[in-house]
Amino acid sequence: MIEEDKSLNFIEEIVEEDLRNGTHDGRVLTRFPPEPNGYLHIGHAKSICLNFGLAQKYNGKTNLRFDDTNPVKEDVEYVNSIKQDIQWLGFQWAEELYTSDYFETLYQYAVELIKQDLAYVDDSTAEEIAAAKGTPTTPGVPTPYRSRSIEENLQLFEDMRAGKYKDGEKVLRAKIDLASPNMHMRDPLLYRIKHAHHHRTGDAWCIYPMYDFAHGQSDSIEKITHSVCTLEFVPHRPLYDWLIDKLEIFPSKQYEFARLNMTYTVMSKRKLLQLVNEKHVESWDDPRMPTISGMRRRGYTPSSIRNFCERIGIQKRENMIDISLLEFFVREDLNKSAWRRMAVIDPIKLVITNYPEGQVEELVGENNPEVEGGEGSRIIPFAKELWIERDDFMEDAPKKFFRLGPGLSVRLKHGYIVTCHDFKKDENGKVTEVHCTYVPNSKSGEDTSGLKVKGTIHWVSVAHAKEVEVRQYDRLFQVENPAAEEDFKASINPNSLQIVEKAFVEPDLLNAEPGKGYQFIRLGYFTLDSKSTPDHLVFNRTVTLKDSWAKVNK
Ligand code: ATP
Ligand code: MG
Repeated sequence: MIEEDKSLNFIEEIVEEDLRNGTHDGRVLTRFPPEPNGYLHIGHAKSICLNFGLAQKYNGKTNLRFDDTNPVKEDVEYVNSIKQDIQWLGFQWAEELYTSDYFETLYQYAVELIKQDLAYVDDSTAEEIAAAKGTPTTPGVPTPYRSRSIEENLQLFEDMRAGKYKDGEKVLRAKIDLASPNMHMRDPLLYRIKHAHHHRTGDAWCIYPMYDFAHGQSDSIEKITHSVCTLEFVPHRPLYDWLIDKLEIFPSKQYEFARLNMTYTVMSKRKLLQLVNEKHVESWDDPRMPTISGMRRRGYTPSSIRNFCERIGIQKRENMIDISLLEFFVREDLNKSAWRRMAVIDPIKLVITNYPEGQVEELVGENNPEVEGGEGSRIIPFAKELWIERDDFMEDAPKKFFRLGPGLSVRLKHGYIVTCHDFKKDENGKVTEVHCTYVPNSKSGEDTSGLKVKGTIHWVSVAHAKEVEVRQYDRLFQVENPAAEEDFKASINPNSLQIVEKAFVEPDLLNAEPGKGYQFIRLGYFTLDSKSTPDHLVFNRTVTLKDSWAKVNK
């Protein structure tokens, strides 16, 4: 039965009201209706979580419907990526449907409207139609074609379908009310002529239904109970209802919520396509993109995205969500699931002068200390020469520097306590080697030395380290709301990608797989890039351990 544990969002309230009243026989059928003209982004994820979430909560179903009524911009590459992304997010649709499968039915609906004298063929140009529509404060005037007879309209519409006219020569319009205060009701376009190849119907059609005519009718054909869309469709709702009413078809209902806007991000497919085409990013799945595929490649987990969508909830007003909230959920999830590994990104050599030459110890480190049992463990080879991070050593260390410097001691993670007694510099004064001694009875887990040190640093054995490339990402835009800029591309962050060509990782990371999260201890969360090859491993930084942006940039 229906849970009453937490407050409902306004769409859940509507659904529960409908269930109480027995509307639609207690059925809940939602749909997710992407246009296959681009890859899905985090805004779509919000819509997916809402539509599929409603169905899950109320024992219903969700259809995946490709809204493929614009032959020019659509492609099967997009269809496939959309399906992959929805499944990756953890949802499964009941039926995979295409608006183009309804083209014949939609055509018959249009004929039905003509027969009721509720639609007419208009020969006016787009400009003439716009001019005759009037303005929100002045009523429109009929074009000379509004009074055509039903017979003539039927014939002309058939001829439009038969390909007798060129693009733009004629359109089919609903005959509603040229004085309506709602401009969408002033005889909106239902069909236009477009001689173009469609990725599914081929050349079968040269007339294509407009969004307003196709969308509600498709909902109705599928008997969708709750058709949820974003706020810009509020003024379209009277037309949605009018068409269903006049055609006397299944009474689907439209409800609107605020689209997701996120700081430092653009969220329209048109803009994202520009970033790809103009090579500001590598591809749709570039890890800096707010696309689902980009976030997957970057290492975001499906559950972190679902938790984010759950947390931001559903609003009736436009708002802007801080991108650090999404990053918070990514960190929270990865902290629980990521396996711990050691990697050194900016290396400097540490030599343990009193450690036996040629000796290798196999230290053992738990994969995941956050869970009981550690999810198993891996072997970490330890030897005389190690890589450590350059900034873990300071020649003139200040008082509270709990890392290495002359005379300072630290613990090497999973290993021994070492004390620095010397270092080497090159001719430019750059430190090249740090020399330490270790305390043999201070090994982690079996330490009998009685020594206490404040700092622990990570390291990788020089002889066993694997060389990899590391890509560190930052926000793609430098301003909070790039879409509000005159040219959103002018605010692209020139430092959104920093490539470290040669970093060292512990050997077990040769077994890494894309999609699996790793915490490189003290550095951040990383994942293997999906385009990485065994000869050239590439790791993407998913997110830092802490939110560094807020401190530096606020
Ligand atoms: P875009 O403007 O990015 O091209 P769209 O709305 O044209 O997006 P569609 O493929 O038509 O993209 O959208 C499929 C579904 O996803 C629609 O129901 C739409 O309302 C929803 N959607 C798209 N963008 C957002 C967003 N930013 N927030 C919430 N829902 C969204
Ligand atoms: Mg759209």
